Amino acid sequence: EAKAAGRNCLRFFDPEMQSVVTAHAQLEEELRQALDLEEFRLFYQPQVDDAGRLTGAEALVRWQHPQRGLVGPLEFIPLSEQTAIILPLGRWVLEAACKQLVAWAGVAGTAHLTVAVNVSARQFRERDFVAQVKAVLDKTGAKPQRLKLELTESILLDDVEDVITKMTQLRAHGVGFSLDDFGTGYSSLSYLRRLPLDQLKIDRSFVRDVLTNPHDAAIVRTIVGLGKNLDMKVIAEGVETEVQWRFLQELGCHAYQGYFFGRPVPISEFGRASDQRYAAGAA
Ligand code: C2E
Ligand code: MG
Ligand code: MG
Ligand code: MG
Repeated sequence: EAKAAGRNCLRFFDPEMQSVVTAHAQLEEELRQALDLEEFRLFYQPQVDDAGRLTGAEALVRWQHPQRGLVGPLEFIPLSEQTAIILPLGRWVLEAACKQLVAWAGVAGTAHLTVAVNVSARQFRERDFVAQVKAVLDKTGAKPQRLKLELTESILLDDVEDVITKMTQLRAHGVGFSLDDFGTGYSSLSYLRRLPLDQLKIDRSFVRDVLTNPHDAAIVRTIVGLGKNLDMKVIAEGVETEVQWRFLQELGCHAYQGYFFGRPVPISEFGRASDQRYAAGAA
């Protein structure tokens, strides 16, 4: 599946066969075509609350390549961010996710669901980013209150005043913000305090060994405490087992995402995957 396709992809771009620069240029061109040919797909991974009830999903992009099969985002997002491809790709992702919100809004029992969309620093840095998001919300008719944007700590390398201004404007419009992969970056606590965030998303590297590594448990506890003090909810990503989930609950997390509750799947499989562990229905 995605992993295998990813490996093929790397072999395809063997730097010994052609220069890295050429390979990148080639991939960039292919990504441009992929946008035109509508080869990108959004997969959805469930997010649940303390009671295990479905509250929404994170939208995760994949590339349905005609030869190489399903290609995971780690194979093309980094390069997309180095080029300008991430800009049209990011707009496509946002629009597709908002359309899904509208579809959910029209069905009893799913109207409360939120969607989380990853936004790269380069996208967020666009001067008209706020207007872009509002335009997509207007065009699709999605409720801003159902949209959550996931930023990473790398945005803090940018002009922090500009970041705060944009976040504040979108938040006034109803859009929520989550800080993704939290704990792996270089957040200065003084900056963090100033960001109008709704949620901190604990990176899965701290979740993986949380049961056996007391340092990881201490980090989770610290992030929960930080969230409490800054008035932010805390979501744990990468929850793979029930015991991990129980322990994270005990540590004070508020929301959860991971293979235990469901893998990222196409929307046609969302909510009816046979291995789903979350309860359906409104929270
Ligand atoms: P992320 O935003 O931190 O997304 C979570 C990643 O962890 C996803 O990988 C997901 O499949 C994986 N994951 C979720 N639960 C588990 C678990 O229980 N165990 C393990 N081992 N892994 C789990 P994925 O889909 O390969 O995405 C990788 C990264 O690519 C994302 O990390 C995000 O940074 C980026 N990405 C994905 N879609 C987009 C997009 O539309 N735009 C941008 N800018 N970045 C994206
Ligand atoms: Mg994310
Ligand atoms: Mg994450
Ligand atoms: Mg992560």
